[in-house]
Amino acid sequence: MKLPEVKLPGDGAAFERFVKLMRTERERHMRKWGSRAHSLEKWIAIIAEEFGEFVQAANDHRIGAFGAGLTPILEELVSTAACCSACFEETLEPGIENGKSVVLHCTH
Ligand SMILES: [Mg+2]
Repeated sequence: MKLPEVKLPGDGAAFERFVKLMRTERERHMRKWGSRAHSLEKWIAIIAEEFGEFVQAANDHRIGAFGAGLTPILEELVSTAACCSACFEETLEPGIENGKSVVLHCTH
């Protein structure tokens, strides 16, 4: 079944920028830590920590703490996404239990 074509907001320019930023962050992680085939539990802890930093940056901006702008929010969002990608690339996609690829059914 072929899905109907959809257009991303702004013809996808923001999406492409985000992907580019995430890739740059992901490459920075690889240079810093190398390959990390962590357990799923460890990835959850890492991603939760990064997401927590995203929330903190958003709250700081919202209440005007420390003159916080939007840049820290974007940085933490990109960092969270890079960690999600690493989790997928290095743990989920290769399969964590039996070496078989994980079949994903992203329907929502
Ligand atoms: Mg962070």
